[in-house]
Amino acid sequence: MANIQAIRGMHDILPEQTPLWQYAEKIIREVLSNYGYSEIRLPAVEKTELFKRSIGEVTDIVEKEMYTFDDRNGDSLTLRPEGTAGCLRACLEHGLLHNQVHRLWYYGAMYRHERPQKGRYRQFFQFGVETYGMTSADIDTELLLLTDRLWKRLGIREKVRLQLNSLGTIAERLIYREALVAYFQQHLEALDEDSLRRLNTNPLRILDTKNPAMAEVVQNAPELMDYLGDDSRQHFQTILDTLTDLGVSYEINTRLVRGLDYYSKTVFEWVTDELGSQGTICAGGRYDGLIEQLGGKANSAVGFAMGMERLLLLLETLEIEVENTVDVYMIRVGENAEKVGLRLAEQLRNEISTLKLQVDCAGGSIKSQFKKADKSGAKFALILGEDEVSRGEVALKSLRDEQAQQNLTQSEVCEFLRKLK
Ligand code: ATP
Ligand code: MG
Repeated sequence: MANIQAIRGMHDILPEQTPLWQYAEKIIREVLSNYGYSEIRLPAVEKTELFKRSIGEVTDIVEKEMYTFDDRNGDSLTLRPEGTAGCLRACLEHGLLHNQVHRLWYYGAMYRHERPQKGRYRQFFQFGVETYGMTSADIDTELLLLTDRLWKRLGIREKVRLQLNSLGTIAERLIYREALVAYFQQHLEALDEDSLRRLNTNPLRILDTKNPAMAEVVQNAPELMDYLGDDSRQHFQTILDTLTDLGVSYEINTRLVRGLDYYSKTVFEWVTDELGSQGTICAGGRYDGLIEQLGGKANSAVGFAMGMERLLLLLETLEIEVENTVDVYMIRVGENAEKVGLRLAEQLRNEISTLKLQVDCAGGSIKSQFKKADKSGAKFALILGEDEVSRGEVALKSLRDEQAQQNLTQSEVCEFLRKLK
């Protein structure tokens, strides 16, 4: 019988890969706390209706990417394809949005039924950030400064570019939408099947096409920027001015519309040229209309989500050395030594709380245990044989240089390792 395999597009993250993940996660958490953000933990499954109402019926996600199934009582449920909707649902449900300001983040797996390829999976991890209750352009800017700081801390600032656009208000977008539809109607022959369908449902999404054959018709389309009112323009300009002031470089991309319906004013993406067409590692913007759309009182919201797999693919190109080794490896030979060794190991961990000590529990000859000690990356081996035990001693051997083996008492070993830490 063939072995059972993981689901296509859903990947294991193996022990040799997790140190780099942990390294990135730690830095991300540190930077989030630099700006005073709090963590929120959310369910992986929500009512299907939540995503239909927030993301919008005519989007890639809702049209074809959701993992939707009936619960045993017939309720339609969906594995979360993103975190924005669930985060807002939770805050509305718990009354967190009454005259309050929030800066939140979450981390977890998201699910989308897409065609798997490098940087595009069916289960993937996102760090998401959502802020509520702030209308000022400074909060949009803060998210850009925060991410800019993050790339610097991770050493990938040179590999990513910031692209910005403003989508204006819903009213401004409606006027633009008419102009856009009129333009595309004069160029029907240049549109692909998806775009023809979108012409009446979600024409802005046509600008988001990844079909190279449509590059020209999209290039010549009217620009939303020309349809923005004073307030939207001013909001956008304030962000640009602050970024310039603080030395954060950016590009304005007037074709950037983002896939989801709920954005207004600012939208942005951090993109890289190193991951082919899966080049967006972080994306977000302002979505002031969504809170009301989900039944709350009108309120401001700005957020972004960052794809961890794409970030990791970038980090892998840097060949960062992330240490994930123990300090000490304990070798025990003989029944008495096994007992004494295990007890000593516990004592050492009691005394030195940061000590990383691995005890060989698989046994074997002293030679084979030494091999494993070497492979563990430990700096020192502690050796307990019948002789050492009968003398109440432990042998300490450096695994990284040629220093001679020393015999120490148990308390001398403890002192030695304490100084090491
Ligand atoms: P794309 O245009 O690449 O499909 P998106 O606009 O659908 O991305 P968002 O919904 O904005 O993506 O999600 C934010 C981030 O999450 C993306 O920029 C990307 O880094 C990551 N992401 C989205 N979908 C996937 C996926 N299927 N596999 C891995 N990462 C993903
Ligand atoms: Mg997508």
